[in-house]
Amino acid sequence: MSGHHHDHDDHHHDNHYSDMQARVKALETLLTEKGLIDPDAIDAIVETYETKVGPRNGARVVAKAWADRNFAEWLKRDATAAIASLGYTGRQGEHMRAVFNTAETHNLVVCTLCSCYPWSVLGLPPVWYKAPAYRSRAVIDPRGVLAEFGVTLPETMGIRVWDSTAELRYLVVPQRPADTEGLAEEALANLVTRDSMIGTGLALSPEALR
Ligand code: FE
Repeated sequence: MSGHHHDHDDHHHDNHYSDMQARVKALETLLTEKGLIDPDAIDAIVETYETKVGPRNGARVVAKAWADRNFAEWLKRDATAAIASLGYTGRQGEHMRAVFNTAETHNLVVCTLCSCYPWSVLGLPPVWYKAPAYRSRAVIDPRGVLAEFGVTLPETMGIRVWDSTAELRYLVVPQRPADTEGLAEEALANLVTRDSMIGTGLALSPEALR
């Protein structure tokens, strides 16, 4: 685990997000009361942003890193700049660090104190990311948490847990799946799931997409 300070006992750094949530909630209440919208429809929209729209930015970053060795090196050295070159930037100047999965090491991201999340590349955080159970257990028992997500790693593979802060947020670059040599970046990006960029999943195989 990284030991850098994590000194945000309030949620000032997530104010942009809280404000947005509050406004969306107010709008949802108003529209629902007026009978203009079905709350289930809103849930479906949020679900879409959590799992599809938001994480596509990160998927493009990962796919480019897989396809372009120079970009991968840049991403390793200065993720903030490499990611910004694709047009994905945070509004509060938080720094990004990309952590690369290897045959020896799997990376897992958490925010133990609250819910710091690389939203410029992943969009809205999933509900479980903010849950106390995930935040505490990811640190204490990462292998058990991964198993619950359906990820079983070889015993010999180490797991590094990265604790996000207001200033520094992590993007996991999953291992490139086998049999993807011929694929273009667009096709590669389709293999990159949100969870694989948090570390609670792996990239999909091309067969899994069919
Ligand atoms: Fe946090």
